[in-house]
Amino acid sequence: MRPTGQPWKTAAIRVVGIRVETSDVNSYEFQFLRDLDRSTYAASPGQFNMLYLPGVGEAAISISGDAARNDRLVHTVRHVGSVTSALNELPIGATLGMRGAFGSAWPIDTCVGNDLILVGGGIGLAPLRPVIYEVIRRRQAFGEVSVLIGARSPGDMLYRDEFEAWRRAGIDVQATVDRADGNWDGHIGVVTLLLDRLPIARPQETTLMTCGPQVMMQYAIQTALGRGLAKRRLWISMERHMNCAVGTCGHCQLGPWFICKDGPVLGYPSIERWMEVVDL
Ligand SMILES: Cc1cc2nc3c(=O)[nH]c(=O)nc-3n(C[C@H](O)[C@H](O)[C@H](O)COP(=O)(O)OP(=O)(O)OC[C@H]3O[C@@H](n4cnc5c(N)ncnc54)[C@H](O)[C@@H]3O)c2cc1C
Repeated sequence: MRPTGQPWKTAAIRVVGIRVETSDVNSYEFQFLRDLDRSTYAASPGQFNMLYLPGVGEAAISISGDAARNDRLVHTVRHVGSVTSALNELPIGATLGMRGAFGSAWPIDTCVGNDLILVGGGIGLAPLRPVIYEVIRRRQAFGEVSVLIGARSPGDMLYRDEFEAWRRAGIDVQATVDRADGNWDGHIGVVTLLLDRLPIARPQETTLMTCGPQVMMQYAIQTALGRGLAKRRLWISMERHMNCAVGTCGHCQLGPWFICKDGPVLGYPSIERWMEVVDL
C-alpha cells in the first residue's frame, strides 16, 4: 500500500486531545492544520504515521483510532526515547509534523465470513484497535470475533474502559495480566493461555492477527497452528527501528523485507523463516 500524497512531505498537525492510558502511555488526538492535508489523507487499520517533532526527530507510530476518520487522528504512544518523550511534553494546542499513512494493512476484507481472533500484548493492542472499530462497523460481515489481550499488570492494560462497549457490539473480549493486584479478578498468565482455551469452531476459517512483543507473537503463532489454524491465515505486525518509512534507507530490513513498506503487517508464511533468526 502506497502512502497518499507525497511521502516526504510533512503535514502540520495540532494536538487536540491527550488521554493518559497508563503510567508511561498516552493516546494523542491530532487534527490537520490545513484542509488540503486532511482531504488527501487516507489510512487503513494496521498502517502507521511518522510523527515529527522539530529539532528532535521522527518516530513511527501506529494508527490506534478509527482509521476511516481523517478529521481525528489517534495514536497511542509509549514514552521510551527522544521523540516520544518530547511528545509527552506537548500541551494541547501544540503543533508538530506528520507523514503518512505508511505500510501494509491488516487483511480485513479477506476475513469476511470468517471467524477472527486478535491477540494483542501491551502496546501491541494499539494497531489492533482500528480493526476492532472496523469489525464493529461491519459486525454482520464476520463470524465469531475474539480479542485476547495481555498486559504486565492491570495498570498497564490499554483501553480497559472500552471493553464493555466492544462486548456489547458482539465481540468476545478476554484479558489477562502477568501480575494481578487488588483491582483485578480476571485471568492471570500469558495471553497465549487464553488462545489455548478459546473455543475455535472453524479453525480452517479462522484468521489470527497479532501484535506485541516478538516472543509473544511467536507463541501465539505456534498455539494457533496447534489449534488447527492455517498458516496463510496468520498475520503479524512487526516492529523494527525505521527512518525513512518508504523502503529506501534499509534500517528496518528483515531478510528480504523492508518492514516500513512490505510490513508492518505481514503474513506468517512470508516472515516465518526470519522470525526464527535470533537478534535479526
Ligand atoms: C511500524 C511501527 C509502528 C509502531 N507503533 C508504535 C505505537 O503505536 N506506539 C509506540 O509507542 N511505539 C510504536 N512504535 C515504536 C516506536 O517507533 C519506537 O519506540 C521509536 O524508537 C520511538 O522513538 P523515540 O525517538 O521516542 O525513541 P528512541 O530514541 O528511538 O529510543 C527508543 C528505544 O529504542 C532504543 N533504541 C534506539 N535506537 C536503537 C537502535 N538503533 N537499536 C536498538 N535500540 C535502539 C532506545 O535505547 C530506547 O530504548 C512503532 C514502531 C514501528 C516500526
